[in-house]
Amino acid sequence: MIWDPKHECMDIEERRALQLRRLREQVARLWVNVPFYRQKWEAAGVTPDDLQSLDDLRRFPFTEKDDLRKTYPFGMFATPLEEVVRIHASSGTTGKPIVVGYCKSDVTDIWAETIARTICCGGGTSQDILHNAYGYGLFTGGLGVHYGGELLGCTVVPMSAGNTQRQLMMMCDLGATILASTPSYALTIADAAEEMGLGPDDIPLKAGLFGAEPWSEGSRQVVEEKLGISAHDIYGLTEIIGPGVAAECEVKGMMHVFDDHFLPEIIDPETGEVLPDGETGELVFTTLTKRAFPVIRFRTRDITSLTHEPCPCGRTHARIARITGRTDDMLIIRGVNVFPSQIEDVLTSFAEIEPQYQLVLTRKGRLDQLEVQVEVAPRFFSDTIGGLEQLEQRITEKLYSTLGISVTVRLVEPKTIERSIGKAKRIIDLREEE
Ligand code: AMP
Ligand code: ZN
Repeated sequence: MIWDPKHECMDIEERRALQLRRLREQVARLWVNVPFYRQKWEAAGVTPDDLQSLDDLRRFPFTEKDDLRKTYPFGMFATPLEEVVRIHASSGTTGKPIVVGYCKSDVTDIWAETIARTICCGGGTSQDILHNAYGYGLFTGGLGVHYGGELLGCTVVPMSAGNTQRQLMMMCDLGATILASTPSYALTIADAAEEMGLGPDDIPLKAGLFGAEPWSEGSRQVVEEKLGISAHDIYGLTEIIGPGVAAECEVKGMMHVFDDHFLPEIIDPETGEVLPDGETGELVFTTLTKRAFPVIRFRTRDITSLTHEPCPCGRTHARIARITGRTDDMLIIRGVNVFPSQIEDVLTSFAEIEPQYQLVLTRKGRLDQLEVQVEVAPRFFSDTIGGLEQLEQRITEKLYSTLGISVTVRLVEPKTIERSIGKAKRIIDLREEE
């Protein structure tokens, strides 16, 4: 089912006209309401009148994560606080969090709507029981999915994350049909199910909506098999709205960007130049309709490519490819750029190991070293030492041929890598401490 065919299947030219109209309104509003934007645009020599076509957006400067930090907490809000009905925040790794706000219409007319679209992309309907294991709180995942589930008419179970065995009990007892969680938590749930002796036929789930962190096709296969579901990739970020920015329909492999609300561009992260469809670069978003916390040309640091090719499902939104990583989680090992997702792709191609791994970075002299710690699947752990050494060797070789650098692979015992309930922490950086 398509939730909002009028907007999701709109004629492309008609949508472009809608986007331009909304963009011009948004920019004109921000010119008046947010001094940050006005100053930035004046310094760049542009005014709202310069926006005669969608391409003119390129003349406007980018907004960076740092701009949002500098204006903490409310400097980027475009409505008075009395109109703001909700706050969320992104933890960030250092310093102050990024605080965002929503007015009533942001929550009901945009966020809940785009989540209802997302759930429908995953095959959901009002008949579904939606087990929501995204964390509730300042993180956008929990409440974001919640309101969209209710709008669609699902029976929403607001589980939040943690206490995995209890989650499985509730899922089975209530007959949950859709699981929403981070992909790493879905793996944790799949693991726990196995331990409890629950196979795919014992679990009522039929679909999963997994996002908020990078994951691989290999992990998709594992959760699909273990939980007996169809797993869908969903994408979003706090600065834009939270989940509900893009979602994978039944034609898997790419995600529809709800671009009547969130206008995407792909840029070269070095030069800032806009790249054509099909080329990989950094994803940039402009929110066309949000009122309390709009952003213009926000640099997400996420790496992907864009296409406007029609999708067999009938939705006409642009689509993005799976996010392969972030410009800031790229590791540089002896001069070679490596994304954790490339390592995950290699690891999940081995049936003998679990998609549970950690990347430990150390420094020897001036050279960075990477150790890949990965868990052996329980049924292979009983293998002989020789067999395990051989497996280690095979993984090392495959990583070498994929990444072009040699890394150390260390097999660890089953269940020794800490299980994630939210976003998995894959990188352990010990370089500063040496
Ligand atoms: P936050 O706003 O703190 O929830 O984090 C948003 C970030 O999570 C995005 O900028 C991406 O880096 C990452 N993310 C969200 N969804 C996905 C996804 N489906 N695939 C890969 N990364 C994702
Ligand atoms: Zn589609």
